[in-house]
This record gives sequence, structure tokens and C-alpha cells, in this order.
Amino acid sequence: NNLILDAQALKQHYHVKQGIFKPDAVVKAVDGISFQLEKGKTLAIVGESGCGKSTLGRMLTMIETPTSGRLEHLGEDLLSLSKAAQATLRQKIQIIFQNPYGSLNPRKKIGSILEEPLVINSQLSKAERKAKALSIMAKVGLKTEHYDRYPHMFSGGQRQRIAIARGLMLDPSIIVADEPVSALDVSVQAQVLNLMMDLQTELGLSYVFISHDLSVVEHIADNVMVMYLGKVVEQGSKEDLFNNPKHPYTLALLSSTPQLSPDKRRQRIKLQGELPSPLNPPSGCAFHGRCQYANERCHQEVPELRDDQTGHLIACHAVEEQRIEFSHAV
Ligand code: SF4
Ligand code: MG
Repeated sequence: NNLILDAQALKQHYHVKQGIFKPDAVVKAVDGISFQLEKGKTLAIVGESGCGKSTLGRMLTMIETPTSGRLEHLGEDLLSLSKAAQATLRQKIQIIFQNPYGSLNPRKKIGSILEEPLVINSQLSKAERKAKALSIMAKVGLKTEHYDRYPHMFSGGQRQRIAIARGLMLDPSIIVADEPVSALDVSVQAQVLNLMMDLQTELGLSYVFISHDLSVVEHIADNVMVMYLGKVVEQGSKEDLFNNPKHPYTLALLSSTPQLSPDKRRQRIKLQGELPSPLNPPSGCAFHGRCQYANERCHQEVPELRDDQTGHLIACHAVEEQRIEFSHAV
């Protein structure tokens, strides 16, 4: 059994005050999401900003507690563990953010930034902590002399390497990376992605890779989950999603990603309008206001996420009713 993370029907619902005369609104930031992550693999979570993907990432790292659902790490239910056991396990699941500069203390040298987690969570001596920091720095392509430098002395790509190094200091098994390369130049993006893939192979890491950018996801993912307003609309292997996409939202995202080769686009769909407010989500299929295939049923009935018999999951009435024509040429 290679399963490292098993999420079942995870929800994160927030109560939002709307003033004294109105009842609280409930924002369903994450609304019943299930997935399985295998050891050494990468699950990408894709969607526009506001779709709930970052909230999901924070729940996986236990920064936020889900409203309901089940989250198992190696068969153990994270949410029913004691606080102490959760704290230990939290070290095994690290998170990396988009803007490493915001999370690196500008007044600390790289060495002490890296060693800080060890001071708190290990019994290592000062010399042992330094040795560990230097060995992790070498793994991410930083030099020994960088140990005594400050964050502002580094480029964006190098800062992301520092953030990755810090994430590795406690020997995690899972890394949740929330838009880790979105703030970087395209040329630097590839370097950081390649580094992450090399580290995955070397250290057997499992990744949850959160991104709005399908061209980045195509590079790194094994499996992909496409989210829209707190729900999964399509989920499958990278091949399912990039070679045989089905959901109109996925088709639209693929059409609007210029880096992807045109011959892979089976349908050209323009994504119309904005993401609706999660405070006032549409009835039925939440995508219906932006979907060229929407009909009356779509306005009324929430489509279920269905398996097409091959493990490829799609939540769409038109797909189920075979109202969308897919070309079969590859
Ligand atoms: Fe479009 Fe209807 Fe499918 Fe939603 S369920 S994506 S509105 S066709
Ligand atoms: Mg986000």
C-alpha cells in the first residue's frame, strides 16, 4: 500500500457576518473533497484564485481544521489525534508558499532561518544543526558561503530554494506547495520545478502542488484535481486531464493556456465572465453562468462527480448526457 494521504469529504465552511439585519452567510470554501496521494507522487490542485485550493492546502498541513471530513496520513486519522501527536506529524507535512520573501525573516541569516525548526523540534547540537543546514543547502543548490547571508541578498529563485530548504530541515514526507513558482520568471520557474522533481526522486517526497497555471502543472503532476468554487469538477491522471479533458471548465482553462500545444486542445472554449462570489454561489452547477453547454437542469441540479469507469472523474450533466462532442483524433 503506497497511500500516504487519504482525504475523504473534506469541508471547510466559514460563517461570514453580513451586518446586523442579515443572517451570517456560509462560505463553502472547500465543499466535500476526496483524494488519495501516493508516496513519491505529485497531486496538482488547479483552479482560479478563490476556488478553495489554498484553503485545502492549509487543511492538509493542519494550519486549519476542517469543518468535517476525514484526513488519514498512513492510515492514521489526523483529526482525531491528540494535540501532541498532531504536532509531531505536522513536521512530516511541510508547506511552501508563493512568496518566500514574505516568510523569510529579513533580519536572520540563512543559516539561522534553516536551523530554527531544528532548535524547536530536535535534540541536535549546534554543530549538528549547522551540518544539517549545510547538507540541505547543497541539495537545493545553495553554496556554503550563503550560510551567513541575509534573504535580501538573493534573487527570487534562490529565495524559493531557501524556502524549500527550510521545508526539508525536518525530513518531511509530504510537501504542500502553494503556487511555489508563480512569482518567478518563466526561465527560473523551470529551474525550481526541476529542482523539486529531483528532490522528489532523491528523497521519496510526495507533493500536493497548488497552482492556477496548467502549463506548470503539466510539467510536474502525476494526478490532477480541478476545483471550482470549493468543489472538484474533474479529477484524474495527468493523461486524463491533458489528453482527454471532459469538463467544460477544464476545457476552458486549457484553451486559455497558451503554452500548451494546440493539437492537444480538443475543444476551444472561451472562459466567460468572472468567478461568482462564494458568498452567493449559483444554484445547480456553480459553473452554469459561464458555461456554453448549460441548460435548465444545470441551473437546478448540482452535478455529481462521476467515475467514467476508468478512474477519471467528471462532474457535469452535459458530459453524462453526452451532449458534448469530443474529437477522437490525437
Ligand atoms: Fe456546464 Fe451544465 Fe456541465 Fe455545469 S453541469 S459544466 S453548467 S454543462
Ligand atoms: Mg491561493
